[in-house]
Amino acid sequence: MSRPLSLGTGEEPIPPGGTIGILGGGQLGRMTAMAAARLGYRVHVFTPDAGGPCAQVAAAETVAQYDDFAALAAFAETVDVVTLEFENVPLATAEFLAARRPFFPPPACLAVTQVRTAEKSEINKLGFATARWAPVRSADELEHALAIIGGIAVLKTNRFGYDGKGQAKIGPGDDAQAAWVSLKTDDAILEGFVDFVREISVVLARGQDGQIAAYPAVENRHRDHILSETIVPASIPPALAAEAERMAAAIATDLDYVGVLAVEMFETRDSLLLVNELAPRPHNSGHWTIEGAATSQFEQLVRAVCGLPLGSVAWRPSHMINVIGEDAQNWPAYVADPRAHLHLYGKPEIRPGRKMGHVTWVLPTSG
Ligand code: AMP
Repeated sequence: MSRPLSLGTGEEPIPPGGTIGILGGGQLGRMTAMAAARLGYRVHVFTPDAGGPCAQVAAAETVAQYDDFAALAAFAETVDVVTLEFENVPLATAEFLAARRPFFPPPACLAVTQVRTAEKSEINKLGFATARWAPVRSADELEHALAIIGGIAVLKTNRFGYDGKGQAKIGPGDDAQAAWVSLKTDDAILEGFVDFVREISVVLARGQDGQIAAYPAVENRHRDHILSETIVPASIPPALAAEAERMAAAIATDLDYVGVLAVEMFETRDSLLLVNELAPRPHNSGHWTIEGAATSQFEQLVRAVCGLPLGSVAWRPSHMINVIGEDAQNWPAYVADPRAHLHLYGKPEIRPGRKMGHVTWVLPTSG
């Protein structure tokens, strides 16, 4: 490579023509690679699964396990910067790569977002509310935590949870021991069940210079624990939306975050915002930004990791639905709708609950 590399800090911009390494081969990587290509970058994807959604549109693919350090070292040689679309890459993998190439979001951020208890501690430290929670490492600790939290609670694995996997709801009279055994881990968290009015999220980008560009707070509706639709903007009072955006920005600044960060929150019946979870990558509730905002969340990620200025987040009211499982068979109806923007992720096999694509409608504005 002709350009002198700056190790680990990424203080020099990477100009178009450079190569972005992405850990993880799913649809988030695919849409990032497409945004990267538009700006003239190449993408090299590192994934354990060959031929996935990202590899289909990437310039290069390495198929290897995340703990294959020889493959990681060879991968690092070919890229100018590394980012990820799969948030649960082992921390040792992130640190190994960060010692060789600029790596965003910084591994220290992943150390927080990969562990629910660490994440909640950090959020509470900033003065922001979460559901009541307690760490649980044994059946005895679970009994104790249930007594403290009271009412209905949710037991979750402390690491590697997504889309409601590794979770068990426990109400008064339920068999807590059975829930404990079903989780198959000795590292869990118990959270009070939040009787929320709605779920919202804020997706933002933070550049290497600390500049933040946040999209408006959006409303998320789930079916079977999987995001089903996103409504832009969330129908909440402007002051509450501003508070959500302020909280997300404060969390990103506190973490010294670089990249795209999603902050998921619950709105309670008394109009409080409780932070549920952080996602250190583009988020399903930000897919609408491809057509609904001047700069998509994927382009923002490319800009942030390459050290370019962030783009405009000017936006229009939008509606996004996920195309899940058999719904993919409805593609002819979506392509026939002149207002619908259909995205399919190139997954060869339909499975129940599998995210096959999404559709966005940008709502007409008056005038
Ligand atoms: P998570 O994996 O933490 O994002 O949880 C997935 C989904 O489960 C959330 O989007 C909520 O719909 C629901 N959920 C998670 N935690 C709670 C909670 N403490 N109270 C109520 N619902 C929850």
